[in-house]
Amino acid sequence: PAARSAVPAVPVPAGGVAARRGGEIRITGVSKSFGPLKVLDDVSLSLGPGSVTAIIGQSGSGKSTLLRAINHLERVDAGFIAIDGELIGYRQDGDTLYELKEADILARRVDVGMVFQGFNLFPHLTAIENVVEAPITVRGLPRARALAEARELLARVGLADKAESYPRQLSGGQQQRVAIARALALRPKVLLFDEPTSALDPELVGEVLDVIEELARSGTTLVIVTHEIGFAREVADQVIFMEGGRILEQGPPSRVLAAPDHPRTREFLAKVL
Ligand code: ADP
Ligand code: MG
Repeated sequence: PAARSAVPAVPVPAGGVAARRGGEIRITGVSKSFGPLKVLDDVSLSLGPGSVTAIIGQSGSGKSTLLRAINHLERVDAGFIAIDGELIGYRQDGDTLYELKEADILARRVDVGMVFQGFNLFPHLTAIENVVEAPITVRGLPRARALAEARELLARVGLADKAESYPRQLSGGQQQRVAIARALALRPKVLLFDEPTSALDPELVGEVLDVIEELARSGTTLVIVTHEIGFAREVADQVIFMEGGRILEQGPPSRVLAAPDHPRTREFLAKVL
């Protein structure tokens, strides 16, 4: 199909499916409105390579929009975002617009994987076919190599024995782990999780958080929007509290979660804890 031929093949680094180096995210003065509603209000943030950041905040505070902007799924109105110094999408400087070509945008998006609340697997494909789809079409991997990598990734998320299962034959927790393996198959430098356990039955949350915790130690930069405060406390290097499209507070979990400076953070935590 025409849409696929526009996607450039990304060079395949040697060395299996290990994380690539890098993954520094710089967000500079990013704002975004939907009509009259300002959803991101001059957000600036710098996240180091390999860091693990938890974003918390009420529904509607702009968390998903911020993640989508990092993946250039959302076009921002002002400011810019760079990963390892490479612009994502475009940069609006006052009246001047620097914009990447569509092919470059797609090539750079490979650096940023995303896992959503609702798994979003292809229902007509088995687990392993879900995982190999993007490496073959986007990275241009030979099918045999893509299958070998996919088996490795499914094993990593504890699903070596489910490669041939269809999504409907898997629990929500298993489906979400397939979705994580699929995101990893593009060897992203950055992995974004938008409430990855919110759609799961409580007894399935732990198995998905365990996989994310393992990734947190692997050197991939992680940004996780979550209401799992205990998980944020244990796994994140940094917690960010958002409200009204702004970062109200950020810092190590030991401070932000245990002794927040901002009264709004305290109120939020009192509600979710
Ligand atoms: P959160 O993830 O923190 O719940 P979101 O980033 O999803 O917040 O949304 C922030 C605000 O922007 C909400 O009020 C939401 O309704 C609004 N919003 C999000 N996406 C759109 C859109 N495509 N069109 C209009 N409003 C939107
Ligand atoms: Mg959201």
